[in-house]
Amino acid sequence: MAVDSAISSPLGPPACEKDAKALRFIEEMTRNAGAVQERVLADILTQNARTEYLTRFKLNAATDRESFKSKLPVITYEDLQPEIQRIANGDRSAILSAHPISEFLTSSGTSAGERKLMPTIKEELDRRQLLYSLLMPVMNLYVPDLDKGKGLYFLFVKSETRTPGGLLARPVLTSYYKSEHFKTRPYDPYNVYTSPNEAILCPDSFQSMYTQMLCGLHDRHQVLRVGAVFASGLLRAIRFLQLNWEQLSVDIETGDLNQKITDPSLRECMAKLLKPNPELARFVRHECSKESWEGIITRIWPNTKYLDVIVTGAMAQYIPTLDYYSGGLPKACTMYASSECYFGLNLNPMCKPSEVSYTIMPNMAYFEFLPHEPNSSGFTRDSPPKLVDLVDVKVGKEYELVITTYAGLCRYRVGDILRVTGFHNSAPQFNFVRRKNVLFSIDSDKTDEAELQTAVENASQLLREFNTSVVEYTSYADTNTIPGHYVIYWELLIKDAANSPSDDVLKQCCLAMEQSLNSVYRQGRVADNSIGPLEIRVVKNGTFEELMDYAISRGASINQYKVPRCVNFTPIMELLDSRLISAHFSPGLPHWNPERRR
Ligand code: AMP
Repeated sequence: MAVDSAISSPLGPPACEKDAKALRFIEEMTRNAGAVQERVLADILTQNARTEYLTRFKLNAATDRESFKSKLPVITYEDLQPEIQRIANGDRSAILSAHPISEFLTSSGTSAGERKLMPTIKEELDRRQLLYSLLMPVMNLYVPDLDKGKGLYFLFVKSETRTPGGLLARPVLTSYYKSEHFKTRPYDPYNVYTSPNEAILCPDSFQSMYTQMLCGLHDRHQVLRVGAVFASGLLRAIRFLQLNWEQLSVDIETGDLNQKITDPSLRECMAKLLKPNPELARFVRHECSKESWEGIITRIWPNTKYLDVIVTGAMAQYIPTLDYYSGGLPKACTMYASSECYFGLNLNPMCKPSEVSYTIMPNMAYFEFLPHEPNSSGFTRDSPPKLVDLVDVKVGKEYELVITTYAGLCRYRVGDILRVTGFHNSAPQFNFVRRKNVLFSIDSDKTDEAELQTAVENASQLLREFNTSVVEYTSYADTNTIPGHYVIYWELLIKDAANSPSDDVLKQCCLAMEQSLNSVYRQGRVADNSIGPLEIRVVKNGTFEELMDYAISRGASINQYKVPRCVNFTPIMELLDSRLISAHFSPGLPHWNPERRR
């Protein structure tokens, strides 16, 4: 029931007093975006005035935009490596931030094959929490009665390590779920999860998923929304159900928990929830044993109003599969965030995925925008870039996001390309266009052209003794299987047909490629089971020439033609697959351990 119009918001009538406050906050921030940004920059520069970094650039305690922009360089992660390494090694002096670095957040972006380490400070948790607190008040404007049931969210913690200097290094969501902000959150009828904290916080991914699914089945009539952070995560949960519904049904029928669940706190918590329920077990068996799983989400959770998953950016590839399993339920992309900083939220979360625009919240950090010219090679010291402020971006233009955070990142290029779609008050709204330099991805892995090239080179060493080389290659993220997997097309030059590489050798090539890919890929393969075995498809000689002919027939210039290192256009895939000679899958798991190698 909406509250009275006295506290109504331009975004719509709030569902309750608490929502009204959150919506007022959004209005206030977006109306005064320019002033808020100026204040945020001044706060950050005052707070960090004496840090080694700001001192190095002779800011002399200035806090105005002009001094900041003229003295501080625009940087990438690589530029900060020496400072980050010192912090990781235990240097506690005020290098980037005046506040102590509380931990490192491990980004899914990589540098030299390892996850990037993002320094963070304690107070950033409050800022992230603040952004989370705005999501449901916005959602309640579009979907009524979300306080009448629960959310089935598949949420996980991942492994954490310590740097040589003793700081924790873990993903931002692991840090959040393990924080008191999350664990002791006050009861909120609009934000009740089916998963108990014990299940979310269990470090064993099988036990965590199993119990979260069990709780979701148990509460099936109460579930009003189903979600995960990314679309790939929700599909992994569906796959898990496909593989485990029989055992889950046994547990539901008997009220006894699967012996594979060994975590004592999880067993204790599940013992309180599980009661024999033969009728529910019969239902689960009946639905899950049907040949078709079309619409399985709405069959099992009939009151689901929407899926809460990110389907923008690389996740858009999963939309058709989500539609298949959910009968086309709306897919809400609620927020845009990263390990470096949480950026903003979608003020119209029930819109179509292609129309999703994120409104950057001006209180989260100081934001600048580097105009993105798709064909320019970047910038040099002699021609420094002209960065644009948050309120000055132009509708229709593309920019790369550059941030200055309270934790001490200064004019840091995030690597995301955004397009301005409009404004809410004076705060711009953005389509997420893509992440720079990412060729393709399945889950949170991000593989770029150079990594793929190195992987192909390393694998093709194994072909040498067969007098064989890889003449051309391209790649494809195959998401028809769950989990999805990398497909690499190879055209081979086999000089001695009598001694050509066998299936076994090509399988080893698959594994060698996996071994060469970055640690996020290998973690997805080994620990998270979010990526399937890599596949090499060998195609007939001349296939890549045909690919070029095809591109030229569609208007590409002969002189400038380059083999695309990633393909996803159906006619091209069909052409490649119609020239297939053989397919080979990786026979094992690549090496991965949570410790960093550097
Ligand atoms: P990480 O640093 O591993 O947390 O990854 C952050 C990156 O994930 C961002 O910089 C984006 O490239 C991507 N990302 C986060 N949220 C979204 C979103 N809502 N839509 C598309 N991509 C996103």
